Amino acid sequence: MWIEAPFTPAQVQTLNEYQFGVSDHGPGHPFLCGRNDKGHHGTIDGNRGLLIATLSGWRCLYCDHNQSEAFEPFTKNHEGGVRWGDLVIEAMPSKVDALIDQLVDRLLQANQPASPFFAEKGSARQRIQHLVGIALESLYRRKLAYEGVETRPGRAFSVNEQWVAVDDGLPPVGREVQALCRLSEVTNPAHPAFAVGYHIVRTTRFSALPSGSFMAESVGCGQVTHWRQERINENALLA
Ligand SMILES: [Zn+2]
Repeated sequence: MWIEAPFTPAQVQTLNEYQFGVSDHGPGHPFLCGRNDKGHHGTIDGNRGLLIATLSGWRCLYCDHNQSEAFEPFTKNHEGGVRWGDLVIEAMPSKVDALIDQLVDRLLQANQPASPFFAEKGSARQRIQHLVGIALESLYRRKLAYEGVETRPGRAFSVNEQWVAVDDGLPPVGREVQALCRLSEVTNPAHPAFAVGYHIVRTTRFSALPSGSFMAESVGCGQVTHWRQERINENALLA
C-alpha cells in the first residue's frame, strides 16, 4: 500500500496534484511536515508545513525535514497505471492561481535576507528555491492539462480539439484568439512556462507577413504552435 522514494517524474506530478487538492481525489488531507509546530512553518492553502514531492522523496517548504513513503493509491489508478487528475473542476483555475501566488510569496520570503523572521542561510534558500520550482512546475502542468494541453511527465504531448495547430490554419486576421506558445529556458519560476516549456497567451491577434508566415501580438519571444477561439464566458451567458 506504500511506495518508497525515489519517485518517478510521473509520481512526483500526481503526488503534488494530490497535495494541492487539484487531483481527482479533490481536497484531501495532504502530507504535512512532522515538525510543523516548530519554527517558522507557514501555510499553503491553509496547510501548515506542506510537503512537496520530489524525485528523492517528500521535502518540507519550511525546514529540512524529509520523508520517503507515499500512499500508493494516490499514485495509481485501477489498472495499475498512473492516477492522473483528469477531472474538470470548475473552480480549479482560480484555485491553482491562488496556490501559485502563495508559492511565489514563499520564494520571495526565502530571498529576503533582511527579514529577521525569514532569513534563510544560502543553502536553505537554494533548497527552497528548488522545492518551490518543483511545486510550481506541477501546478503549471496541471493547469495546462485543464486547458486541454497535456505536458505531464509520462504522457505524450497532446492538445484537445479546441486547439488548432498553426500549420493547419491561422485565425482570421484581427480576431482575438488565445495562443499556445513554446518558450524554453525560462529561468523565472513565476513565469508559467518555467520548467514546462509552454504557456498560454490569453489574448492575441495574428497578422500575416509578406513572407507567408505570421506574427502574433503580445507573444514576446515564444513560438506560437497552436491557437483557439476565446472562450465564451458561460457565466455571462447564464446571467
Ligand atoms: Zn518542516
